[in-house]
Amino acid sequence: MNLVKTSKELGEILAPIRSASSLIGFVPTMGALHNGHISLIKKALSENEVVICSIFVNPTQFNDPSDLEKYPKPIEKDIELLTKAGCHYLFLPEASDIYADGAEWSHSFGKLEQLWEGAMRPGHFKGVGQVVYKLFNLVLPNHAYFGQKDYQQTLIIQKLIDDFKLPIQLHVCPVVREENGLAMSSRNMRLPAQVRLSAGRIFQTLQFSKELVNTGEKDIQKIIAVARLKLEELSGSQIEYIAIVEPISLEAFEQLPENGPILMIIAIKVAGTRLIDNMFLRS
Ligand code: AMP
Repeated sequence: MNLVKTSKELGEILAPIRSASSLIGFVPTMGALHNGHISLIKKALSENEVVICSIFVNPTQFNDPSDLEKYPKPIEKDIELLTKAGCHYLFLPEASDIYADGAEWSHSFGKLEQLWEGAMRPGHFKGVGQVVYKLFNLVLPNHAYFGQKDYQQTLIIQKLIDDFKLPIQLHVCPVVREENGLAMSSRNMRLPAQVRLSAGRIFQTLQFSKELVNTGEKDIQKIIAVARLKLEELSGSQIEYIAIVEPISLEAFEQLPENGPILMIIAIKVAGTRLIDNMFLRS
C-alpha cells in the first residue's frame, strides 16, 4: 500500500489513474480502524480498480475539544490492517493541508443537520460536510463508501452529493458488530471490558423492538418505552435519544405507519462514552 501525505502528491498520483478511466473507490475515515472500516475497504475493492482510504481526524466536526484530543491514533496498526486488506493508497493529510484555504463553510443541510446527532453535537454535520466536500474534490472518486452505523451521516453525504451535483455514487454498507452485537466503533476501546460486554444490550434492544413490530405491535410509545427500560438496565448509562423515525427525513413518527420503512435510532452514553446505533424495524 502506498502512503500519500499531501494533497499535491495525491493529485499527481491520481491524474494518470483518472486518464486511464480506472474506477476509483474512496473510504474516508478518522482512523483507529476496525473490521467495520475494513468491510468498507473490501466492498470498495470488489467494485473499483483503485481504492483510496483517508485517515484524517477532522477538527471542525468535533464540538467537544476533549473528544478530539482523546481520539485514538494507532497509525501503525491502521497501516497494517489496510495493507492486509489490500487497500491501494492511504491518504494521510495534515490539517494545515486540508484547511490551507481556511475553515470557512456556510453550506446548510437544513433540518437534517439539526435533528438527533445534529442537536446533540452542534456544528458536527457542518464539519463533516466541509471535510468530505474537500476530500471528494481531492480524490474525485466514482464511488464512496460509508457505514450505516452513522446513518444520519449517510443522509448528509447524499445531500452533499445532490446539492453540489457531484458525480459520485454513495454506497451505504451494513453495520459490522462485535460478537455480542455491539456496533464496532473506534470509541469501544474506551469502554472497560465488562461494560463493553454488557453494551451488547443496545443491539438486543434494537432486535427486540424489531420483533415487536414483526409480531404486530402498533403502539410506538409502547415500543419505545420497552426499549428505554431495557437500555436503562445498562448500569452507568444515560440515554440521549431513542426514536422511531422516517428514514429519509428522520422525523419521528407519532404513530406507526401501515407500511413502508421505519428506523429505530439510539444514542446513549455508557461509562462516559457516547455510542450510537440504529436498525430498520421494517424495511
Ligand atoms: P469513522 O472513522 O468513525 O469516521 O468511520 C469511517 C467510516 O466507517 C464511516 O462511514 C462509518 O460509518 C464507517 N463505520 C464505522 N463503524 C462501522 C461499523 N461498525 N460498521 C460499518 N461501518 C462502520
